[in-house]
Amino acid sequence: MSAAGVKPAPTTKGAVPFLKVPKDGEPYLAGSKCSKCGEVAVGTRETCGKCGARQGVEPIKLASTGRLYNFTVVHRNFPGVPVPFISAIVDVDGGGTLKGNLLGVEPDPAKIAFDMPVNIVIRPVPQKDKDGNSYLAYFFEPRT
Ligand SMILES: [Zn+2]
Repeated sequence: MSAAGVKPAPTTKGAVPFLKVPKDGEPYLAGSKCSKCGEVAVGTRETCGKCGARQGVEPIKLASTGRLYNFTVVHRNFPGVPVPFISAIVDVDGGGTLKGNLLGVEPDPAKIAFDMPVNIVIRPVPQKDKDGNSYLAYFFEPRT
């Protein structure tokens, strides 16, 4: 705990709770795998949502590759959010499903293929919060 009135030094955090930023090593997306049925879920779980196991659900790192399951091109958003952009659902290789933005592709449905292979990349978000903390977020990019 820090002394009263002393602000902690700004840090880099994950923009979502399951994006982990270790002090040493690369940031990664955290998942859970059930040792009983093999189900993989995004985030840290204590029980398995598929088979109901209450023990043996272990923390894992999600893969950094996946395939595009579905997408929508977003044309309207909050003021200040640049549009259009592609909001995508990706099935992570090895298990888990993520929703995020697909970068590096023209936001034209004719140019986006279902099931296309993608890389899951972790990048800094341009904005900082009021305490000067930086954030990392994950995005999808076509894998060529
Ligand atoms: Zn299970």
